[in-house]
Amino acid sequence: MSEKISLRDELLYDKKTVYEKANKARFDAAFTYAEGYKAFLDDAKTEREAVTAAIALAAERGFLPYRLGDKLERGKKYYYNNHDKSLFLFSIGAEPLAKGIRIAAAHIDSPRLDLKQVPLFEDGGMSFLKTHYYGGIRKYQWVTTPLALHGVVAKKDGSLVQIKLGEAANDPVFYINDLLPHLGHETDKLPLGEAIPGERLNVLVGSMPMENEEKDAVKLKTMALINEKYGITEEDFLSAEISAVPAFPARDVGFDRSMVGAYGHDDRVCAYPALSAIFDAADSAHTLFCVLADKEEIGSEGNTGMQCEVFLDLIDEIAAATGESPARVRAAAKCLSADVSAAFDPNFAEVFEKRNTPLLSAGVVLTKYTGARGKSGTNDASAEYIGWLRRVMDENEVVWQAGELGKVDIGGGGTVAKYIAKHNIDTVDLGVPVISMHAPYEIISKVDLYETYRAFLAFFRAE
Ligand code: MN
Ligand code: MN
Repeated sequence: MSEKISLRDELLYDKKTVYEKANKARFDAAFTYAEGYKAFLDDAKTEREAVTAAIALAAERGFLPYRLGDKLERGKKYYYNNHDKSLFLFSIGAEPLAKGIRIAAAHIDSPRLDLKQVPLFEDGGMSFLKTHYYGGIRKYQWVTTPLALHGVVAKKDGSLVQIKLGEAANDPVFYINDLLPHLGHETDKLPLGEAIPGERLNVLVGSMPMENEEKDAVKLKTMALINEKYGITEEDFLSAEISAVPAFPARDVGFDRSMVGAYGHDDRVCAYPALSAIFDAADSAHTLFCVLADKEEIGSEGNTGMQCEVFLDLIDEIAAATGESPARVRAAAKCLSADVSAAFDPNFAEVFEKRNTPLLSAGVVLTKYTGARGKSGTNDASAEYIGWLRRVMDENEVVWQAGELGKVDIGGGGTVAKYIAKHNIDTVDLGVPVISMHAPYEIISKVDLYETYRAFLAFFRAE
């Protein structure tokens, strides 16, 4: 009997959860770590807020602001703020750059509702702001839920007005109307994807008319209040970036408090561990690089997305400062593209292939390939690189699992991985399994979050 068991242990792969493989000290550490993460989530609901929050944390830890062209010194730590929406942090280690750099790349934008450029209108005694959704959302999830407005208004005089309303306990919140069931019998028959068209995602922002006004009196009153609070006019919305995001804070979920419910786990649940790992591994001999990218949810476009060449510019500058060829630095570099994965959900078991789907609480997920159908649009990480990572994870007792996003022909998804790999950098996806990804309130497990942090630490320090 015992011989049979050891043969099984020796030959067969058995996926185990963090609860089965680790101990109470680890669980306690995970719970403590999650407190810092929840605070970061509440501070950083947009990419701009995430950049501000990350810079504050980095500055406390001795990271210096860097501008392209500045002198770089070995042993020092820097951050590069790219247009206030993406952030690059790096520490130049003692080891020759020819040995490569270690890169952790996550994104800090999340699905949401952006205001249109001419958003304000009045109808039926109510004033609304028109939105254009950003990223992949299931639109029916965004109605009848409290929303906050976050963003900036760039005025013609060059000043920037910060907007954040709906988060403090006594702030008003905003809202998207839905039909009452009594009148919903016809729309109840529509497919979920058609029940709430994008043009119906209008945010309710007022219902009081301006005194002694006949036409658009509610709109005028709303605009007068906005003007009073922020000093802007309706025309200023033309050069604004304001988003409606869920108004609720991050909370523990479950009797055991083992999970966190929040808006925007995708992908702050990877950005925060990547950030805290570069802080805690700054003693590593390697040169470390942490990317917090914008625009992943819409294809990594623009000058703040991962496709922007500033990523190469920074590697070029680091290589030049140490007298190394940038191409050689990239060829020897290793990257963890840190993004979330879909956790198996027994309520929707039919879309998952259980043997290859990440399980909640089974640790950080290594995803060899993403993409759709026949691996279309994926970076398919090499066996050799994953073999190296397996050793690093196991030597550091990181609980990890392999995973892919649902059944082969059901759907698919992408990450920033391919935009890094195309520069000849060994790259693999790694991240936290999420329940209800892209919903206004997503769920993650605290032990998975903590193993992700431990994975980055191990990666940054490993030989
Ligand atoms: Mn993501
Ligand atoms: Mn996403």
